[in-house]
Amino acid sequence: MSYAGPEFDPPQPRRPRRGPLTLAVAALVPAALVGWLVYEAVADSGHGPAGTASAKSSAPSAAASPPDDGKRPAASPAATPGAAARPGSGPLSGKVVVIDPGHNPGNFQHASEIARKVNIGTNSKECDTTGTATNSGYTEARFTLDVARRLRTLLEAQGATVKFTQDGDRAWGPCVDERARIGNQAHADAAISIHADGAAAGDRGFHVILPATVHSGAADTRPIVASSRDLGEHVAGSFVRVTGSAPSNYVGHGTGLVVRSDLGGLNLSTVPKVFIECGNMRDSKDAAQFTNGAWRQKAAQGISEGIVGFLRG
Ligand code: ZN
Repeated sequence: MSYAGPEFDPPQPRRPRRGPLTLAVAALVPAALVGWLVYEAVADSGHGPAGTASAKSSAPSAAASPPDDGKRPAASPAATPGAAARPGSGPLSGKVVVIDPGHNPGNFQHASEIARKVNIGTNSKECDTTGTATNSGYTEARFTLDVARRLRTLLEAQGATVKFTQDGDRAWGPCVDERARIGNQAHADAAISIHADGAAAGDRGFHVILPATVHSGAADTRPIVASSRDLGEHVAGSFVRVTGSAPSNYVGHGTGLVVRSDLGGLNLSTVPKVFIECGNMRDSKDAAQFTNGAWRQKAAQGISEGIVGFLRG
């Protein structure tokens, strides 16, 4: 079920000022705030000054039509507001976010490699899976990579350092244990794994998966259970608000939150981490959203705002 309507235009976080005047104000404030304010002005006004005008095309709104191919932002002139912020400036300066696009489009061609068992602490489990797909063949792996790239653009615009576990730049994988390790080794302030579910038709809506308390073998989630829940609650709340999507009607009892102990990517994490299942690819209504670039932009915006809220406390 979708609650999308005019009142659900993606809200912009913390607007100290609106409109073109913000640019004039920006000239008077400390340099660290400039990137943020420029982003705000562009996103709000829809008619930024010369030099940033192209940024408005990626401002999140129902009318936006971001590129559907999820190209690396740096290669796309429309993929600002990232261009408005310099690395290391902005409210998330100094924060590291690891984004884990679930699966890999190449996994389908590497069945034996991804079937290899890896140790997830509690037991061993397949390295990875192919992921699911819509009935028309739009794969989860393509979807997750696209949303992840949009999310990266949004977070980098606010000064965060963003690292991917894979960016369509390897033949398959990585395995779930490596996905966790990448976040750990980056000392991520937040890590998120992006997925879409493959449940029965009629099962709809998103859910965020939180790590259970697991202390077994190489897994010890005790230090991250509370912070991960905080992260997950922020993400779930923002996702509802920005996308208008309802929490899952088939797991989580309407909360949009599910705790699991069987996911290596969570069990092995030493940094705050959650998964988000953005909806159900096997449901035609959810699938119609997934195949819509404007909706994927909203999904990325919802996730971004949740991460920002978590990181800014
Ligand atoms: Zn998945």
